Amino acid sequence: MANFTENQLMQLKVALQKRYLELQDEVRNELGHANDIGNTDLTEYLNNIPDDIDTALVDRQINEMRELEMSLKYLSELEFGDCIDCGNEIGFDRLIAYPSAQRCIQCQSQYEKTFPHESNPSL
Ligand SMILES: [Zn+2]
Repeated sequence: MANFTENQLMQLKVALQKRYLELQDEVRNELGHANDIGNTDLTEYLNNIPDDIDTALVDRQINEMRELEMSLKYLSELEFGDCIDCGNEIGFDRLIAYPSAQRCIQCQSQYEKTFPHESNPSL
């Protein structure tokens, strides 16, 4: 666990939740049934995506939501903020800017060189 202050942890949690809700809204808008879903579990709903939806975009958003869910879980278990590749601290500023970041900047650019086709907005 990176060395965050209570205050930083709170800010990170807010940033994670905010980003998550943004993505949830975007996905719901794209699916075009914002009013029908209500509080239905999004994952369940996604099993019934209509064919005319841009699933590549939605997939990416869902992936990021999964990462955010994971980060929130790590945050509550105090295992948050370490790069999944090298174990170094990702850094508070980077996490606030990109709450779903899973890697430090070095590993992220390495990762993008290795997998150039995977679009990842975390850098
Ligand atoms: Zn790293």
